[in-house]
Amino acid sequence: MAIAVAGLAAVTSAAWAEFPDKPVTLVVPFSAGGPSDKIARDLAEALRKPLGQTVIVDNTAGAGGTIGAARVARATADGYTLLVHHIGLATAPALYKKLPYKTLEDFEFLGLINEAPSTLIGKPTLAANTFAELSQWISANDGKVNLANAGVGSASHLCGLVLQSTLKSKMIPVPYKGTAPAMTDLIGGQVDLMCEQALNAIPQIEAKKVKVFGLTSTERLTLPSLAQVPTLSEAGLKGFNMTVWHGLYAPRGTPPAVLARLNAALRTALKDADLIKREEALGVRVVTDSRLEPAGHKKFVESEMLRWSKIIKDSGETAE
Ligand code: ASP
Repeated sequence: MAIAVAGLAAVTSAAWAEFPDKPVTLVVPFSAGGPSDKIARDLAEALRKPLGQTVIVDNTAGAGGTIGAARVARATADGYTLLVHHIGLATAPALYKKLPYKTLEDFEFLGLINEAPSTLIGKPTLAANTFAELSQWISANDGKVNLANAGVGSASHLCGLVLQSTLKSKMIPVPYKGTAPAMTDLIGGQVDLMCEQALNAIPQIEAKKVKVFGLTSTERLTLPSLAQVPTLSEAGLKGFNMTVWHGLYAPRGTPPAVLARLNAALRTALKDADLIKREEALGVRVVTDSRLEPAGHKKFVESEMLRWSKIIKDSGETAE
């Protein structure tokens, strides 16, 4: 019996030693062309070499990322179907009345990927040019300013919640089906403001199609086009800090040897000079600290769940 079990273990680990022997799929729970999709496609490219396999990106969008997350939670736990999700994984438990998965129990945490600050941007016809002018205008128009977002549970929606609670102003949230239509309407002046990830806003800021009032991170970005943009904390909202982050997940029960292989590949990918350069050009910082470790990643998600449950509860927002 003991020999039989040992034999089985040897066969199993030999099988996993071959991992991956076919393409690996990264499920992105948002639509193609959006910020998370860009992040996942860059990562897929950088993972190709360390995994020695093709890495495919597959978009399963809807319901603030919860549909795509549920798909991975239910996928075969063999390491071939992974999830690239953002901050929404940590905020969905407070936002959604019912979730089709258990955030901390149904996934293996493979490591955080990056942190992406957002920008507070406005329609080009706004009279305000600085954050001080903008906040005066917002308080003079309390309850009347439109704030676009990419849908309930999107990063822009979450950023809008923190913004309203910090400013102690109510705005009218305008949810769109993704970042692209929200940005189109902001440029066209149909909505007033949006708190959008820098990586998506940079081209519009550079083309002067939108006005930029501040960054949501505690540090400025070094990109030439954004270096002069103050953080919201510097501009008057002391301590304002809202950074979007992405992480990599596998279904619960994925064999430890496969998880170790995936974590090692992630570490190599995040050291890839081309990836780092591409992300820097998008204003995104690749993670290099202990949150790249599965345990550190999980702890971080838990802390974000705690932080956001209060913000969301105070905002009174819920989603079906
Ligand atoms: N991450 C979403 C997307 O890629 C957008 C968002 O959360 O704001 O479409």
